[in-house]
Amino acid sequence: MPAQSTTAEVVDLDQRRAVLAAVEAPPSARRVLTEGEFDAAYRAARAELGLHARRLGTYTIEAALTSALAAVGILPPPPDPEPDQCAAQFADLAGEWHQCAEDADHDQAEGHSDGEWSWPHGETYAVPEPDGPAEAQQ
Ligand SMILES: [Zn+2]
Repeated sequence: MPAQSTTAEVVDLDQRRAVLAAVEAPPSARRVLTEGEFDAAYRAARAELGLHARRLGTYTIEAALTSALAAVGILPPPPDPEPDQCAAQFADLAGEWHQCAEDADHDQAEGHSDGEWSWPHGETYAVPEPDGPAEAQQ
């Protein structure tokens, strides 16, 4: 016998489905903030936290801000690439940037990889390695 549901429960279920669909299909065109935009967002978040900001610390505030922005398709500016390796970078779904670990002169048509993630040249999305994240071998 099916459980009885109210209209409110149906609306709530539709909202949950919409949230899950958004999580499974992130925005197709993510916007990358400039350093100035990210700094402005950071200052606004820090001001809103007031006295709590000092206890949380810069790293935690930046991580929370990055994750919140990434959830709606907005990325922090990428860090300066490490020298002496391929400069290609992409951001994962949490907004964390990854740099290709291949040599600077590798064939970019074969795509990029940092050992944990791989992605086609020109993509900004994370694509898991075919066998999943690399795990330490014994
Ligand atoms: Zn590369």
